Amino acid sequence: MALKKKDVMETIKKTGLAKKCVCLHSSFKSFGAVDGGPETVIEAFLESGCTLITPTFTFGYIVFPPENLRPKRNGADYAHMPWLTTGKNSIYNVSSGEIDLHEMGVIPQAMLEVEGRVRGNHPLCSFTAVGPYANEIIKVQEPMDVMAPLRELALFEGFIVLAGVGVNRMTALHLAEQMTGRKLFLRWANNKDKVPAYAEAGGCPEGFVNLDAYINHLDKKEKCGESLWRVFPANKTLKQAARVIQLKPEITHCKDANCLRCNDAMAGGPL
Ligand SMILES: [Zn+2]
Repeated sequence: MALKKKDVMETIKKTGLAKKCVCLHSSFKSFGAVDGGPETVIEAFLESGCTLITPTFTFGYIVFPPENLRPKRNGADYAHMPWLTTGKNSIYNVSSGEIDLHEMGVIPQAMLEVEGRVRGNHPLCSFTAVGPYANEIIKVQEPMDVMAPLRELALFEGFIVLAGVGVNRMTALHLAEQMTGRKLFLRWANNKDKVPAYAEAGGCPEGFVNLDAYINHLDKKEKCGESLWRVFPANKTLKQAARVIQLKPEITHCKDANCLRCNDAMAGGPL
């Protein structure tokens, strides 16, 4: 039996998310069949009175850094940057419907089509929100304050939901790193004058799974169709994760001992 809107609303109610601000990281496939597609999930949150936030990243806007924008310890080997040749050298705009679909998934893609959605002013790592507090949460995002919407989420006593995805997808853990004094990496995108400028971005998230053991007691776990939802209170989770990263900086490191981004992040980020 395909999942219906009322089923998703039931899970939202059960987990205490009704009327709350919610940052959703999801695998739509994990739900099983859903009547009406990804739009049904978004409508379920909206009809529950939630403000829904999703990452809607667009790394295609990255550009090659000029010599004067290449700080040390920046998780980038400037002599070898094949990953930068993919940029299309255009200018990001908040009205854009573009998204890295493969990385973000179909729910964030559908968010961009919702009337009245608010998209953040960040060329590479924008968040998009719908619902009562969408504007308040998103308007604070800037190229050099990528995590601002998640700070707002915590202030609004909001929640982070992992729906069928792992802790390595929880973008807020980059904010937890920042709370410990680490600087986020500096990447590059065109500003409105088509000049390359800095934009903050998170590093390698694969080691975040190591934090699971320390935040596992904070979430509510509930099935929505076939999808396992893990519902984390944003504020508590951020504080707990930041405390653990402070005490054990190596915990965010992925399995690859040579991972440049993990090594540079552990050392404190760009100079
Ligand atoms: Zn790594």
